[in-house]
Amino acid sequence: MKKLVVITGASSGIGMATAKKFAEAGHPLLLLARRLEKLEEMKLPNALCSKVDVTNLDDFRNAVKEAEARFGDVDLLVNNAGIMLLGSVWEQDPSEWQNMLNVNVMGVLNGIKVILDGMIKRNTGTIVNISSIAGRKTFQDHAVYCATKFAVHGLTENIRGEVAGSNVRLTVIAPGVVETELLGHTTNSSIVDNYNTWKKSINGGLKSDDIASAIWYVYNQPQNVCVREVVIAPTKQEA
Ligand code: NDP
Repeated sequence: MKKLVVITGASSGIGMATAKKFAEAGHPLLLLARRLEKLEEMKLPNALCSKVDVTNLDDFRNAVKEAEARFGDVDLLVNNAGIMLLGSVWEQDPSEWQNMLNVNVMGVLNGIKVILDGMIKRNTGTIVNISSIAGRKTFQDHAVYCATKFAVHGLTENIRGEVAGSNVRLTVIAPGVVETELLGHTTNSSIVDNYNTWKKSINGGLKSDDIASAIWYVYNQPQNVCVREVVIAPTKQEA
């Protein structure tokens, strides 16, 4: 049997496309999200679907324990769950900053906390953290989202170096715009309208499957090859 892959935020967008790609290739899966029904609707074979909020370390750990008891050790963690609540800090409700920090930073750290120790002991494994092009440079109305994604870039590269000697790989993937539900949670409607107008002007974003293919590429290199960063955006996206 192929090795266990854990994907957070598998109930939509990039996470869902990644789940389908790895299922097609015969990997057993642990799929995590808050909307359990969306995970189960996919009806993927050898997939344990678990209602886990990535900000809850204990729930995350228990789900991984259950999956490992059934399918063996985790070989790939895709830390994908994330939220984007665009706004300017002087207008935005601080609860939006906190939610982004909790999911985009603490959620990623929780995944690493639960899984990395076992990978170090086994001397193998891969962690792919989904950051953003907003983890490399700034954009209007993105200050806190950028803060969270710069954090994902920073912590990934830092930990990558720390565990390199244990033969464990960490990769950060930085997508430009992708057609998913991500923008739907932003509460400022004029920001949403402007974003959609801009997206239209570049003929839309990438497909989730384009990012899933990048994850597939990174994971399927030999274990001694670590793709440290992938930056992937629509050709027509200038910024
Ligand atoms: P979607 O909104 O389509 O998917 C986000 C996923 O994250 C959902 O499955 C959602 O599941 C999950 N999620 C959100 N909060 C939590 C939580 N607290 N606990 C568990 N799961 C959670 O967006 P994308 O597919 O676009 O986003 C995936 C990643 O890609 C994110 O990290 C995003 O920042 C990044 N990204 C996206 C880009 C884009 O243009 N779309 C560009 C660059 C990066 P549920 O609600 O069921 O919990």
